[in-house]
Amino acid sequence: MEGHVKTFNFAPGPTPVPDHITQKMTEPILSHRSSEFSELLNQISHDLKYVFQTQNDVLILTASGSGAMEAAVVNLLTPGDRVIAIRSGKFGGRWVELCEVYGMDTTVIDVEWGNAVDPAVVRDMLINQGPFKAVFATHSETSTGVLHDMDSLGQITHEMGCFLVVDAISGLGANDLKTDAWHIDIVISGSQKGLMIPPGLSFISMSKGAWEEVKSNSTPSYYLNLKRAQTSHDKGLTPYTPAVSLIMGLAKSLEDIKQIGLENIFQHHARLAKITRAGVTALGLPLFAKQPSNVLTSVTFPPEVDGNKLLKTIKTQCGVTIANGMEQYKGKICRIAHLGYHIEAFEMLIAISALEYGLSHSGFSFQPGVGVAEAQRVLLETASLTVD
Ligand SMILES: *Cc1c(COP(=O)(O)O)cnc(C)c1O
Repeated sequence: MEGHVKTFNFAPGPTPVPDHITQKMTEPILSHRSSEFSELLNQISHDLKYVFQTQNDVLILTASGSGAMEAAVVNLLTPGDRVIAIRSGKFGGRWVELCEVYGMDTTVIDVEWGNAVDPAVVRDMLINQGPFKAVFATHSETSTGVLHDMDSLGQITHEMGCFLVVDAISGLGANDLKTDAWHIDIVISGSQKGLMIPPGLSFISMSKGAWEEVKSNSTPSYYLNLKRAQTSHDKGLTPYTPAVSLIMGLAKSLEDIKQIGLENIFQHHARLAKITRAGVTALGLPLFAKQPSNVLTSVTFPPEVDGNKLLKTIKTQCGVTIANGMEQYKGKICRIAHLGYHIEAFEMLIAISALEYGLSHSGFSFQPGVGVAEAQRVLLETASLTVD
């Protein structure tokens, strides 16, 4: 049979949308100028602050995550500004591209894929080659599965009087990110990762200092202009017609997250990651990320395994999607996501079972079942997420 009726998605975004959220999004579309919609936006605005761990406003843009990344560059900076962009994977590379496209004097800190940036390197650069106006970083680098130490980077940039701008598109709602306590000036996220709604919305929070800078910046912009977005936000509105149905889904997703509690959600992701890594390691496969994020587990294929072929086999024969490596790591690594508060621990057994299926067709020698058994053992000995 070609194709599967039932499929399982372990790609790190778009994440599967829970049925009750899909249902919410099929309700009649509210007028974006109605009082009902303003009330919904006010509630969302309140709940986003909780998820972003900030007292400041979180603005909503109808654009994918990269839209908010672009908004950060355009609104905070003026062409010619000196900035540092940390590139430890594909998404860090996007910061470099954005800063260069808009004519910033960009210093790149390149980090080998699979590693996190050493905060001391950033500190040295700020001290010895400064001043810089901003540092652009990635919380969870989705192309490699690496988590970056935003607490340390925030302390350093705060001491040095330089803005810290963080892409937390995949990390938000999976790994802890204390926006205010860690002195992060701008945090960006998107709808289709940890929040588990479809792609199409992005979010941006600004510290008081960043907002002052944005207000006084005269670089022209229109659709992504954050002054317009903030002015509308203050009136319970958005400047243009937003993706209303996604916003209706978002309200539900945020309600779920509040009910479960952020701390529980972080622990849940840690558990999913632990189960997955136990299974992968028992199969004798090395983990790719040196400092792993709880968003996904990146796995190095042994040299005798054709990764492209393996992933295709499990997609066509098992209906299971595991993400391939990106760029130079395509076919060399795979990325198993465990992202989203609605993913169950049992689902990770499916991912490990599919990986075993693929390995058994790849010429790799292993004892079938060892990965699943070890994942299952960890599942049994760790506590599940309970909601009261
Ligand atoms: C998914 C992702 C992006 C890309 O966001 P889009 O919504 O595709 O624009 C950027 N950064 C990270 C870390 C991501 O995981």
